Amino acid sequence: MPELPEVEALTAFLSERLTGRVIAEVRPVAISALKTYDPPVTALAGLTVGAVVRHGKFLDIGADGLHLVVHLARAGWLRWREHLPEEPPKPGGRNPLALRVRLEGPDGDGFDLTEAGTKKGLAVYVVRDAEEVPGVARLGPDPFDPDFDLARFRSLLGGERRRIKGVLRDQTVLAGVGNAYSDEVLHVARMSPYKLAADLSDEESARLFEALGTTLREAVERSRGLAAGELKAEKKLGMRVHGRTGQPCPVCGDTVREVSFADSSLQYCPTCQTGGKPLADRRLSRLLK
Ligand SMILES: [Zn+2]
Repeated sequence: MPELPEVEALTAFLSERLTGRVIAEVRPVAISALKTYDPPVTALAGLTVGAVVRHGKFLDIGADGLHLVVHLARAGWLRWREHLPEEPPKPGGRNPLALRVRLEGPDGDGFDLTEAGTKKGLAVYVVRDAEEVPGVARLGPDPFDPDFDLARFRSLLGGERRRIKGVLRDQTVLAGVGNAYSDEVLHVARMSPYKLAADLSDEESARLFEALGTTLREAVERSRGLAAGELKAEKKLGMRVHGRTGQPCPVCGDTVREVSFADSSLQYCPTCQTGGKPLADRRLSRLLK
């Protein structure tokens, strides 16, 4: 899933290509992806793109008072096309194409939103104000907000009885961090994903805050200037523990371990993060009973 750094890079990529351009057509192909009907998606045709901005993991393409807001979800992606085919795309079960945006001009350029797999989560909204999108309205502060400082971060964690891993990826607490970067941030901070947020000492919350900023900034730095199609591979290459189960930790050489849940998994290094002890894996212990 694209998280803050990838969506930030996509925002910059689209901003360069879309600003000042006129939208010729927005065509939903997977109808389930379109979550709003008023204003209709056809209302975007003929409008000029102003700013392209990011809200958490949402992309927001503003055009003459309307906004095309996109959440790529787990398997969604954006593919820039220098020449879109003339014929309208065919909807179909196996077609990963969810929505096509064509710009006015002789080249027929624009972009496709695609979604692989069967669990469809990609969501597109056409609204007059991005805050009309429920997921945007609920977002917590963005780690890149200029006023997001250590005091603000600590206020989010105080009284929070959940494990820090879950808190970091909760979009209503903090905008933009998902499963991958929460693994990375916790590894950089040398902190167990199971630690309760409210139990963090001042030293630990400062360390985590620092890790959050550096991890996200470095990821954005790596993604800057990359084409939309290259971002996914770059995200994977930059990972220290996330998605690297069984491989050596790049810091200490210990084996990266995994805890599996019903619909996700987390990765961590025992030596760096949990005092060498493997974390309890409920699924695994159930199997062993
Ligand atoms: Zn390690």
